[in-house]
Amino acid sequence: MTKDPQALLDAIAAEVRDHVPCGFEVCEQATNLVPGEGSAAASVVFVGEAPGASEDRSGRPFVGRAGKLLDELLEVAGLRRDDVFITNVVKARPPGNRDPRADEVAHHLPWLEAQLEVIGPRLIVPLGRHALGRFVEGVKITESHGRVVQRDGRDVFPMFHPAAALRNRDLRETLFADARALREAL
Ligand code: URA
Repeated sequence: MTKDPQALLDAIAAEVRDHVPCGFEVCEQATNLVPGEGSAAASVVFVGEAPGASEDRSGRPFVGRAGKLLDELLEVAGLRRDDVFITNVVKARPPGNRDPRADEVAHHLPWLEAQLEVIGPRLIVPLGRHALGRFVEGVKITESHGRVVQRDGRDVFPMFHPAAALRNRDLRETLFADARALREAL
């Protein structure tokens, strides 16, 4: 019998939360691992790079300032948090907010792949160039954002990372234009 997709996602989340000790600093120093959250029936999955300080404290993805901006973008795209799935490539906050190392990405990537396998979304939205690189290699975010890129049988819709737009007004306008384009693409 096929298992309920939400139960499968919950099982992945439980495995992420409980998997330490694993010997990886990024996991063992985290306050909470952040598996991601949302609907197993989501047609869109948003993927950031790694949790920040607010996410590490709460155990939930995109709840800090970048998350507030993501909520606004979702609204413009005609989506609600409950309709989508939001997660990260790396499920634990790298100490000092440094970029995740390649071995840490490799340690965490199977969880993201498992989540995508269960959900089977119509579109994957990588947020920022680091997340983009996990889905589409050799394409710049400056050239690919705001439109569908097909790669390995998947439809990927790259967007800039909301945190970058907190510091840059032009980027903020681009992000909102891309959120409108996402609405059209859906
Ligand atoms: N930035 C990310 O990439 N992910 C989060 O969950 C929060 C901030």
